[in-house]
Amino acid sequence: MVLNCLDCKAKACKSSGADCFDLHGISREVYARNDVNRMVKNSSKLVDGGRAGELSRFQEVIEFCRLQHYQNVGIAYCYGLENIATEVRNKLVDAGVGVIPARCTMGGVKERHIDEEKNTEAISCNPAGQAHFLNTRADFVLELGLCLGHDVVFHQELNVPFTVMLVKDRVYAHAPLEGIHNYERDTEMLNAAR
Ligand code: SF4
Repeated sequence: MVLNCLDCKAKACKSSGADCFDLHGISREVYARNDVNRMVKNSSKLVDGGRAGELSRFQEVIEFCRLQHYQNVGIAYCYGLENIATEVRNKLVDAGVGVIPARCTMGGVKERHIDEEKNTEAISCNPAGQAHFLNTRADFVLELGLCLGHDVVFHQELNVPFTVMLVKDRVYAHAPLEGIHNYERDTEMLNAAR
């Protein structure tokens, strides 16, 4: 048995229920939990019965919030995407979903407070502050365009269920798949410009 999913030819987990990594028991335990069970059932409602491909991701988010009865949906956003965050907020509110916005600069932490090599009064992004703000107020969080690394801190500190609505990609208009497909060409261009 090849214990490497990508190189595995059999894909026997899908075809015959093989349990290569002894995950069956712990997984069943997790899905037996009420919160998880409800969440995956509501997730299924977005795509089952031939619905897959019917809803955009944003439509799925709105329907998921309704199914989960989320009342206070946090939007953790990058200040550079304030316009998009506003559009998302307005459309969620129009759809009857309560929203709590959380800008990445909240908390007023200066860059020099985080990085001693930065002798500047500039206010830093503060993903830890965003997480702690939302931990006590939100029942679900939409993440919108946090920078790489800041998003990692945000995930580490956040205790609330979340989904990523928008991944920041400054080159490809927030569509990282383009960067995967074009990696070789982009790297060549980068090296040539050095
Ligand atoms: S059968 Fe499934 S779990 Fe096992 S190695 Fe292949 S792809 Fe991975």
